[in-house]
Amino acid sequence: METCPICAVRIQGLSVCRRCGADWTRVVAVLADAREHLRSAREAYMDNEADAMLLHAKRAYSKRRSRAARRLLASAAALNRDFELALRIWRLDRQDPTGNTQQSEPEDRSNHQASKG
Ligand SMILES: [Zn+2]
Repeated sequence: METCPICAVRIQGLSVCRRCGADWTRVVAVLADAREHLRSAREAYMDNEADAMLLHAKRAYSKRRSRAARRLLASAAALNRDFELALRIWRLDRQDPTGNTQQSEPEDRSNHQASKG
């Protein structure tokens, strides 16, 4: 986390904001945990351990819904032949070119074109 979500002052490397005093210790820990699970998922992929890759990708995505986590999860799901999950996550990725989303799943699929963009 580079800036305080409350007052927008730069807090890179700190878990307590110097300006407003907000304590981001737990948030920083969750984000670090998400990065660790991403790294573990990539290692599992390199070791041909698809089950472990999927487990770590799911955990990473549950902690931070980043584009990297989403793409890794879609890939891990496909490798584990969970094509329904892979497609669902891939669709989320197509909807969110910014790389971040809080959505869990699209509600109305009739408005979405997979080839849009
Ligand atoms: Zn602040």
